[in-house]
Amino acid sequence: MRGRWGLQVVGCWLLVAGCAGAQKRAAAAGGVSGKEVLRLTQEYVDVAPKRYLGSPGHAAAEKFIRDHFQPEIAKGNFVTDSFYAKTPAGQFGMDNLIVKFPGKKDGIIVLASHYETNYPLKDIHFIGANDGACTTALLIALGQYYREHPPQGYSVWLLFDDGEEAVGNNGMVGSDQLYGVRHIAAKWSGDGTLAHVKALIVADMLGWKEMNIDHEDYSTAWLLDLLARAGKDTGHSSYLFRHALPIDDDHLPFKERGVPVLDVIAYEYGPYDSARGDYAFHHTDKDTMDKLSAQSLQVSADLFVDLVKLIDQR
Ligand code: ZN
Repeated sequence: MRGRWGLQVVGCWLLVAGCAGAQKRAAAAGGVSGKEVLRLTQEYVDVAPKRYLGSPGHAAAEKFIRDHFQPEIAKGNFVTDSFYAKTPAGQFGMDNLIVKFPGKKDGIIVLASHYETNYPLKDIHFIGANDGACTTALLIALGQYYREHPPQGYSVWLLFDDGEEAVGNNGMVGSDQLYGVRHIAAKWSGDGTLAHVKALIVADMLGWKEMNIDHEDYSTAWLLDLLARAGKDTGHSSYLFRHALPIDDDHLPFKERGVPVLDVIAYEYGPYDSARGDYAFHHTDKDTMDKLSAQSLQVSADLFVDLVKLIDQR
């Protein structure tokens, strides 16, 4: 993803969390382990360090995800959405991978992360530990959680989407971005699925040690409110909303089609590099495992588990 705004940090407001709240770890109890998400992230980047379109690593990444959902494949709850897309670097085959955990009432909550790395960065050692890998691992761990704790409310679908990053060298402009989500949003619109989607929540860049999740301004207001609520429920409010800004990300094609969306993203990543006009670790070979922490991934996992509960209760 990237900001289309060159980094206008629109408001810079800090919510100071109450210390008492920070001690609460309600959602983590019996939930998803941040340590496990970190371990899965390491495994993922070991197996598929460079996952750009058309690369062997991209195929290895798909296999890694598939290998973690054998029970869902056996049940027919794993869907591969394959398509071709024209890009500035030519035509590529792309695959969205969808895992379904059926719930008890009509409606679907979609949790999404892109799993590939940037094609224009193919010649440097860019592994996207924070940008793509850790949220892929987060979704896998959430899948393991929903396998053990089947949704009692809405169905939960995981969407591992492809081709989020720009393929050409001009950044995410026009149609050179969000290939996978644009494809699946159109498909789900055509087959009637989208009418059942109660919320689509994107996970992006949620593992940095100093992570603070943005108040992402394209997101739907009631979902941002629920994110704040989830912060309180889990004692993680201090990890939320230091920055408020709009970000081009995987939620936009769904927003355009009227789906309630939430982009859970921490765009700040390292010191700001004014020469590059970006944060120092973003889209560079510095986006490596040593930048991540189990604690940040714990916070992210707790928030996602709680968000699903809160949407169910709404
Ligand atoms: Zn990116």
